[in-house]
Amino acid sequence: MGKALIIGAGGVANVVVHKCCQNPEVFEEICIASRTKSKCDAMKAVLDGGKTKITTAQIDADDTEALIELINDYKPDMVINVALPYQDLTIMDACLATGVHYLDTANYEPLDIPKFEYKWQWAYKEKFEKAGLTAILGSGFDPGVTGVYSAYAMKHYFDEIHTIDILDANAGDHGYPFATNFNPEINIREITAKGRYWEEGDWIETEPLEIKRVYNFPQIGDKDMYLLYHEELESLAQNIKGLKKIRFFMTFSERYITHLNVLENVGMTSIKPIMYQGMEIQPLQFLKAVLPDPASLGPRTKGKTNIGCIFTGVKDGQPKTYYVYNVCDHEACYAEVGSQAISYTTGVPAMIGAKLLLEGKWKKPGVYNVEEMDPDPFMEELSKQGLPWVEDFNPVLVD
Ligand code: NDP
Repeated sequence: MGKALIIGAGGVANVVVHKCCQNPEVFEEICIASRTKSKCDAMKAVLDGGKTKITTAQIDADDTEALIELINDYKPDMVINVALPYQDLTIMDACLATGVHYLDTANYEPLDIPKFEYKWQWAYKEKFEKAGLTAILGSGFDPGVTGVYSAYAMKHYFDEIHTIDILDANAGDHGYPFATNFNPEINIREITAKGRYWEEGDWIETEPLEIKRVYNFPQIGDKDMYLLYHEELESLAQNIKGLKKIRFFMTFSERYITHLNVLENVGMTSIKPIMYQGMEIQPLQFLKAVLPDPASLGPRTKGKTNIGCIFTGVKDGQPKTYYVYNVCDHEACYAEVGSQAISYTTGVPAMIGAKLLLEGKWKKPGVYNVEEMDPDPFMEELSKQGLPWVEDFNPVLVD
């Protein structure tokens, strides 16, 4: 049916590639292109010989002209962008120039200031509409599945959703004193930023990790979780009509927070470049270089993740609550695709979004966040492709 160009060759890309190969009737051909071609070749070596035809290429995705050349040469139907958020706009520009659909899992980030804002990508809406092309933003887990859960709750269970709490728990243990389970730079930028949530049309800012709750997660147990700003809050606050409040919580262990505090206190999490022996270096990028590669955590990580959304609102004049979540086991993910659950829970939804786009079910010209698409085919695919969901109509609410 289709041909996809996958950009990036990290933990998430590895899952996308495996999952595309598990769906060869849709992904007849894929090209894995990234900065370091040997990583693409290594993935190809594992999966070659199946029904999906795999090729690889070297690409600097910061370079729009090089991207245009690659796309014109390979002629894919769509690009699945699982490189870093810094490359979103150059890849979108290249898609527009070549007439190819686009999908990613994280909003565009300027290199110098962490923003977590959609404005740059939403500005492309008209261009994609005019070109008759679809761009799907944030088709990972959060953002991604959390948006699909929200659209599903709205479509099937509520007349009005008043509050959404997104709860992201990772009870995985990799045995290292400190490591981040996806790109450390993005992860640390996210956590050291001020917290923020949305209530009655206003953004309320908190100090980093100021708001802490303990929640008893199904299949995981009690965990400390902290209120963070997360990019899907921006799109959901706009797209779920009638919403009054939306928050995002993520779990971190005490050990993780202690390490982070120390690193922050000594200046290692700063993104402001410093001069070192005549060379300009960014402390956070240097830290990334000395931390374990997230891809190397896979074989060592045990335990589960639980990510979901708790909704409150009204149906037929009656108050209603609804909790929908997925539990994913790190070791089971590793056994299946050679990546841990964080990469798995991001890569599977990226493949599903791409599959629905290629099948025409999620094809509509413009730039869209996932909650603007029909959630039903996506929910159906989640169960089939390894991320089944559980529903609870009487959950404990977060105060
Ligand atoms: P990794 O750091 O493991 O992989 C990123 C890949 O992108 C690497 O292969 C890297 O190349 C490649 N890359 C970086 N810069 C360029 C460039 N200029 N040109 C070409 N390739 C480049 O990250 P992950 O796989 O963990 O994450 C991938 C994406 O998924 C990120 O955007 C992340 O924010 C997002 N994400 C989304 C989540 C969600 O739920 N929505 C959750 C987790 C992640 P090289 O190998 O040479 O370094």
